[in-house]
Amino acid sequence: METENDISVLVVEDDQYISNFICMSLKQKGYQFIKTTTAMEAMSLFYANNPDVVILDLGLPDMDGIEVIEQIRKKSDRPIIVVSARQEESEKIKALDLGADDYVVKPFHMGELLARIRVAVRKSERGLDTNQQFICDYLTIDFSKRLVFIEGKEIHVTPIEYKLLKLFIANRGKVLTHNYIQHQIWGYGEEDPNSLRVFMATLRRKIEKDTTNPRFIITEVGVGYRFSEE
Ligand code: CA
Repeated sequence: METENDISVLVVEDDQYISNFICMSLKQKGYQFIKTTTAMEAMSLFYANNPDVVILDLGLPDMDGIEVIEQIRKKSDRPIIVVSARQEESEKIKALDLGADDYVVKPFHMGELLARIRVAVRKSERGLDTNQQFICDYLTIDFSKRLVFIEGKEIHVTPIEYKLLKLFIANRGKVLTHNYIQHQIWGYGEEDPNSLRVFMATLRRKIEKDTTNPRFIITEVGVGYRFSEE
């Protein structure tokens, strides 16, 4: 198990006040960090240092942070957490669709950002071993036998529900957009967000004890869903 001391964070933020605030908190928690105020330097620092996590502001002086996501994703799966003042859902969706892992809107609490960093690091440490069991709270999935259990009792899931579960668990902690999920499950032909909503509702009825307050699959309003292990 890695400690925070082994984890390095690249902070890309042109607002000095926010940058100092983030870096001070990271330092307090024992994280290593490097920082920059520009997109160009962010990319060269990324390639030179291979940090474990990137915290990325979208509004940068030399280039749009969205382009930084695109460039990094051409070569690396390292978690990228977008920190931005932009509240528009379309921006959020664009960043996530291009491969950002998470999104925090300013102003934010540092505790929230630190929690997202922990989730992102854990996620990148463990891939999904599809020969193994996945156990989280009262949910167990046996990938080798393709079986799903709730409190030890086997439940029936349809092939699409199983594909959804597998997709969420492989990407646990990460926000998956409606588009991304649809393309992964149905390919590029399916574009009807209502059918996804229907499948999600039936899946939730099977795995969630309280569908109005889900334990596993959290709704990111207007954006998509996230599987939470917390
Ligand atoms: Ca900015």
